[in-house]
This record gives sequence, structure tokens and C-alpha cells, in this order.
Amino acid sequence: MSRIVEEGPLPERLARAITLGGPIPVSQFMAAANAHYYGTRDPLGAGGDFTTAPEISQMFGELIGLWCADLWDRAGRPDVAWVELGPGRGTLAADALRAMATAGLTPPVHFVETSPVLRDEQARRVPHATWHDDVEELPTDRPLLVVANEFFDALPIRQLVRRGATWHERLVACQDTLFLPVAGKQVPDDVIPPHLRDAPAGSIIETSPASVGIMRVLAARIVAQGGALLAIDYGYEGPAVGDTLQAVRAHTYANPFEEPGERDLTAHVDFATLALVGHASGAIASGPVGQGAFLRALGVDARATALAQSNADVLVDRDRLVEDMGELFNVIGLRHADWPEPAGFA
Ligand code: SAH
Repeated sequence: MSRIVEEGPLPERLARAITLGGPIPVSQFMAAANAHYYGTRDPLGAGGDFTTAPEISQMFGELIGLWCADLWDRAGRPDVAWVELGPGRGTLAADALRAMATAGLTPPVHFVETSPVLRDEQARRVPHATWHDDVEELPTDRPLLVVANEFFDALPIRQLVRRGATWHERLVACQDTLFLPVAGKQVPDDVIPPHLRDAPAGSIIETSPASVGIMRVLAARIVAQGGALLAIDYGYEGPAVGDTLQAVRAHTYANPFEEPGERDLTAHVDFATLALVGHASGAIASGPVGQGAFLRALGVDARATALAQSNADVLVDRDRLVEDMGELFNVIGLRHADWPEPAGFA
């Protein structure tokens, strides 16, 4: 039985699973869609579906590398491992490692990446990296410097929807070959944050148990081993009401319930909750601050002016990173209590 269900294109497999077992949670739909999407292509860049900050300009990865090197230097130059979560094409890592090397930091590199296609891309730019499927596999014997750009937004979210005066798990049903969201089983009111319980009918609340789980593991590692984490994403300070599940294909927004596995599904990241998870584990959180303010504090303007001497386009790239993305994207830091305060959050 399960072998039959596992055969064929993803939309057909999901449709069969829903026909046999009933509607599935949004989180299960999103996890299956993104595993297929990232597992089968390199979606980044002008010819792909979307462009990220490190693909816009080398300045982004370089400044993150200098952020790491500065923190490491002020922490007393310990033997650290450098970790990136969801490194995409490996562009950020290559730029950051080059900048770190100029500051004397040449750490072993560990990538957490599930896509075989993107692992190949990463190996072209950072051949000496070690790859892992899961954060649990990261080294346990040294401090970790962890970077995650547009990683948490790709992790599955759970949605709860208000119907009448009750809250329900939001599920994905299937009619013929059409996937559509429906309200499922009622959830008890006490799983809803008190200030949101009386939101109007139709309101949606999102949580990301997968993100919280990964943050919990990393925060525990940083508390036990030392080090710090930097996460950058399209985010908000939650919990809040809002449906942020979105799909992007060929740089345009699309219906997230159509063509599962062929569109990039993302949700905005609840930075307040992630910082709280870090704090509860005994780590110190910084931010969130806007990406624009963060990059300016790290010296993006001086770097852009220097690079613009040979290529004036750099100033356009700087504006995309600092102005266009500057407020929408946010940055949080997490560190061991004995590590110095990281740059960029003052
Ligand atoms: N950080 C890169 C790529 C962002 S796209 C950049 O800024 O350009 C999201 C990345 O996370 C991809 O590399 C994708 O394959 C990876 N990813 C998505 N879900 C993942 C998961 N559950 N575990 C590990 N990696 C994942």
C-alpha cells in the first residue's frame, strides 16, 4: 500500500494521500512541497525563481564574515567551527570565508543542507566543507559560529484559523487535482496566545515547530560549547495574526496551494519567538534589527564606495540590500553568556 502511495509525481502522491487519509496539516504540505522543490533544482538567481542577498552582492557575505571574525577575535580567538544552515549556492559562505581569512580566521566549515542539487553547487565553491542533514550532527567539541540567511523562512509552518468563535488547525484538502485550505479539528483556546484569542473570524495564526526545534538545539549547543548565531530573514515580532504563507515562481507571487513542489513556499519568521527560545535555553539574544541598519553598522557604505571605484553597479546593489530589503529583512543574534556582544545591533 505505502509503495503505491509513494510512486508518481508529488501532486499525485499528495492527492492520493489526502484521498486515503483525509486532509493533511499545512505543515505537512509545506514540508513535502519544499523537500521536492529544493531537492530537484537550484532555484536561485535571475534565471531562477528568486534572488537572495548574497546573490545580489559579494558585500553581504563579506560583511557577515567580518562580523564572525570580529566576534571570534574579541572572544579570544578560540578554535571554532563555522556553520551555515541552508547555504543555497554556497555564495555567502565563499564570500564570508574569504573575508574571515583576511582577519586570520580559517575554521572548519559545516553545512546543514538536505538538497543534493544544492550540495553540489556548494561543493563547487567550498569543496572542503562537511555536510549534514540535521543540526544534531554538528560538532560537539568546540564553539560554533552559525549563520542562516533565508533558511528559517523555508521551514514548515503550522496554521491555526479562527472559524466563528473557535480556533481550528488549518488543513489542505484535495478536490480532483485542486489543493485548497480547509478548517480542520478544533484546537483548545489555551494553545492560542491570550492577546490573540478573540481575533475576528477568518484570522490566521502561524507557528513553526520545526524552526523552534532547530533553534532549541542550536541554542543548547551554544550554551554548552560557546559561540554565536546570526539569522537573517523576512520576519516579524510575533506571535501575531497573519497569513504569510506565500509561493514564488520566476520572481512572481503565486498561489501556495497550486503545483506543490514546483514553487518556493515560504513564511515570515517570528523572530521574537526564536529569540525567546534562545533566551529560555540560557543564551543571550540580540535584535531584531533591520538588515539595512545592521549592514550600515558593519560598514557597508565604506565597502560599497571602495568597490564602486572599479564598478559603479555596486552602488545599485548596496541600495537593494540596504534600502529595498533594509526594513523587511531582520537580523537576530544569539550568543553564549561569556561571549562578547556582537557588532551591528547597537
Ligand atoms: N542561504 C541561501 C539559500 C536560501 S534558500 C541564500 O541566502 O542564498 C533555502 C536553503 O535552505 C536552500 O539551500 C535549501 O535547500 C535549504 N533548506 C530548506 N529546507 C531545509 C531543511 N529542512 N534542512 C536543511 N536545509 C534546508
